[in-house]
Amino acid sequence: MQLSRLPASSGVDTRNLAGAPWMLPTVEQPWGNAAAQEQLSALNAPAQDQTARHVADCRAVRSLLAELLDSDDPIERNSAQYVDVGLVHVAALTATDDPGEGGRRTWFDPTSPYTSDAADPTRTVQLDPALVGETRGSAILLLSPSTRSRDQLAETLVHEVQHACDHHDETLKPPEVPGALDPCPDRYYGAYRSELAAEWLADPSTEGATDQLRITVLVDGSDLVRSVTTAMTDPRQLAIFRHFCGAIPADGVMKRDREWVTPYAWLPYYYACDPTFRSFVDTMVGPTTANGTNSLSIELLRRALVQDEDWREVVELVDDTDRAWLLDAGASTAFWNDLATHGVSETTQDLVRTALHLA
Ligand SMILES: [Zn+2]
Repeated sequence: MQLSRLPASSGVDTRNLAGAPWMLPTVEQPWGNAAAQEQLSALNAPAQDQTARHVADCRAVRSLLAELLDSDDPIERNSAQYVDVGLVHVAALTATDDPGEGGRRTWFDPTSPYTSDAADPTRTVQLDPALVGETRGSAILLLSPSTRSRDQLAETLVHEVQHACDHHDETLKPPEVPGALDPCPDRYYGAYRSELAAEWLADPSTEGATDQLRITVLVDGSDLVRSVTTAMTDPRQLAIFRHFCGAIPADGVMKRDREWVTPYAWLPYYYACDPTFRSFVDTMVGPTTANGTNSLSIELLRRALVQDEDWREVVELVDDTDRAWLLDAGASTAFWNDLATHGVSETTQDLVRTALHLA
């Protein structure tokens, strides 16, 4: 998921965004009020009918990809290539005229690819309008792309493509630290690992990362309150954590009717309630990903190796950015571990390393 910079912008009426008037902005966000208000009015007072808006949304994604394929930034170029060859389904979602309820809005059509203007307005998905994009299963959904800036869309695409190619291990869980008031479900360990890697690549800024974050939550189904303060040493790790936590409700209620009050409310909640999750988050100071550059070549190399096909041809496609990442043992550990997990022998891995050096 990629969260818009909008919801915590000071001065913006958060009721329009998350339906939660008691949410207090706690993080300064880089988006100015003028830009935020313009985007909100585009979402809330559509000038055209939904079919025309959908055509505009699909065109916005097509022109973005055309631009990114030519970008000077290798990560943007890689992300666009990954989508352009069809390795991942991307849909431009358009808000229906339905005002929605509970802070969510109705969007169509997640099944129709951005390459076609056709869509079925009855195929809908409910999403928080604070999101610019979201990955659902293996599909990347971009919300009202024609109302977003080029940089906002590019950052979102980089973020979502990273989710598609990180091959994070859903089953890895650290050793238990006793004392959980509400134990964190296993799936959130993989979710956080993937979100950190995606945001690390999409937004290198460390804005707002000087202060640790104080988190107070009400333990779900009880009257217990738990307060913790983060103790993160890496500014980028802290900036990303603060970005995802966003506005923490003043009353500490993170779940209502079994639904999280914001898309990432699970993060501060389990950080406060479960010391195992807290220690996991604190000790993850960099991305763990099998593809740290959103590279099509690295994805194809992985596939060839895992499927025991001829990988030497693919090595020829690996460019300098990808090679630098693959040869950085610290950064690309997850790539090699993932190969080992899928039965690629040490001998073959060494052959790949040698080929990369020589190429
Ligand atoms: Zn995400």
